[in-house]
Amino acid sequence: MPGRFPQTMPIELHCHSTESDGDCTPTELVARAEALGLTTLALTDHDNVDGIDEAMRAAHNLSLRVVPGVELSCHFEAREVHLLGYFFEHRDPDFLDLLGRMREERRHRVHRIIEKLESLGVRLSYQDVEEQASGDAIGRPHVARALVAAGFSDTVSSAFDLYLGNAAPAYVGRSLLSLEDGIEAVRRAGGVSVLAHPGIYHDWARVERMLKLPVNGVEVWHPSHRKAERKRAKKLGSRYNKILTGGSDFHGPRGDYHEMGSSPVTESVVSRLLTATIGERALV
Ligand code: AMP
Ligand code: FE
Ligand code: FE
Ligand code: ZN
Repeated sequence: MPGRFPQTMPIELHCHSTESDGDCTPTELVARAEALGLTTLALTDHDNVDGIDEAMRAAHNLSLRVVPGVELSCHFEAREVHLLGYFFEHRDPDFLDLLGRMREERRHRVHRIIEKLESLGVRLSYQDVEEQASGDAIGRPHVARALVAAGFSDTVSSAFDLYLGNAAPAYVGRSLLSLEDGIEAVRRAGGVSVLAHPGIYHDWARVERMLKLPVNGVEVWHPSHRKAERKRAKKLGSRYNKILTGGSDFHGPRGDYHEMGSSPVTESVVSRLLTATIGERALV
């Protein structure tokens, strides 16, 4: 286990477990967060909230607060964007129904990726990919791991470069949920939404159009953001009166991922998110 943090009360608002494409189970994430001295952990699996109850059970009797979270795969202007949701009712039937449909789309998409790979002379079966996934939210990282296991790529990262990345030949887009509908779905489930890692889109005019929507916050501190991206995200977020948040996007100790808690936020960010939750609930 890594050493404890020197600063007081660090909070992690963005991380993934085996319920989507992370390497640690929700229980392992909670243990890691506790060992690091974090006070709050939001589990934000891709299109899945199945790990939240396990994380909450694991944190029972610890001085660690688990915040229900999710990272929704949405589209905006025909391109993919990620939306974080927090403090929603994670057993809300309509929300669970939406997430179930999103994971169905993920399965469908993996089949289409496999077809595209086949047309490139790369043969994988759906089962090869499924073997790489332990949770219900299957996706490109599992395809990438299957490509490595079958010897088509040396690393997950080169599998993205060669085949799966947004500009690569086996990329398949998604169309189920618009960003507008994602924001509304989180609100209806009693939560607040945050635009994830806007710097990765390399298009601040597009980000500005996103921030004109009733999203509550924007992720400023993220490992993919350098100083310039943090500055732009902060400036635009402040202009549209958004809550400025951050998170490490930890996916596990292997690979190039950054450590949990490496983009920490303070308690005041959590207070602002909670206050916004109360405001949104008053509107439902
Ligand atoms: P998906 O949700 O199936 O579209 O897959 C997106 C996920 O793939 C992201 O959340 C990352 O975990 C991972 N990912 C995206 N780009 C890369 C990359 N270039 N190298 C490694 N992992 C990546
Ligand atoms: Fe991921
Ligand atoms: Fe993301
Ligand atoms: Zn993420």
